[in-house]
Amino acid sequence: MKTLTRVIQVKEEIRDMRSQGKTIGFVPTMGYLHEGHLNLIRESLRKTDVTVVSIFVNPAQFGPGEDFARYPRNLERDSEILKKEGVDCLFVPGPEEMFHKGHNTYVDVYDLKDKLCGRSRPTQFRGVCTVVLKLFNIVGPDVSYFGQKDAQQAIILKRMVEDLNLDVKIDVLPIAREEDGLALSSRNEYLNKEERKAALVLSKGLKEAQMMVEKREEKSEAIIDRVKEMISQEPLAKMDYVEIVDMDNLDPVVRIEKETLAVLAVFVGKARLIDNAILRPKE
Ligand code: AMP
Repeated sequence: MKTLTRVIQVKEEIRDMRSQGKTIGFVPTMGYLHEGHLNLIRESLRKTDVTVVSIFVNPAQFGPGEDFARYPRNLERDSEILKKEGVDCLFVPGPEEMFHKGHNTYVDVYDLKDKLCGRSRPTQFRGVCTVVLKLFNIVGPDVSYFGQKDAQQAIILKRMVEDLNLDVKIDVLPIAREEDGLALSSRNEYLNKEERKAALVLSKGLKEAQMMVEKREEKSEAIIDRVKEMISQEPLAKMDYVEIVDMDNLDPVVRIEKETLAVLAVFVGKARLIDNAILRPKE
């Protein structure tokens, strides 16, 4: 595995691979890798000739007072894992390599950026879109892999790719979970034992939502109220939002008549956790 820290090195490497007619798969991450990341990486290894993974804790997507400084990092361990998986190229830029002094260009996907997580983290998606567009320009992938765990992010990035005519296919893979249902996340590292238990309220709430839809509940309000009630009964959890939204435009849905997305964000201790599930009404 080649580990590269400079943009110019990656561009040269990719030019070389392209001249050999190879296809490029790309998995952008913030590191502290878990099985959720590895699923994306393995899919890229299966589907493309060359797999590039980036690890960059992107300062632009954290707001003031958020967890940028204490976001978990372990490059040595991540690097070992990626080598074992057979990744071809790891790109680990320093902050100045991605955002040089004077950087003043940002990408925003309007409307979508202000919904759901955008309400409590107003600059998050501008940071995500800007860094992902930069990474796409550096790596020039045929396919880039993202997780359904960050459903809003995936929807926003697809919109950006379409709006800006980017030559990359976005592939979104299902949420990887622990056996007890907790969605894998680097931020789970923040949880102590009690908080780890309390964090199950996210996946349990979503399961409950899915059960209610299976029992033919169609009213979003009834489902949202029930999930909010579950969260309020968990003393270590504090709700940020619970919503049921359209899968394409993220607008609230009143009646669940087709596939719809249940999404939530909950604070547990120092961690702000997100999760989601697709609600499928019976025919
Ligand atoms: P991150 O390092 O958290 O920025 O995540 C990098 C990529 O991995 C993003 O596309 C995430 O959506 C994806 N990802 C993170 N956690 C999971 C998970 N539990 N299941 C599937 N994909 C995930």
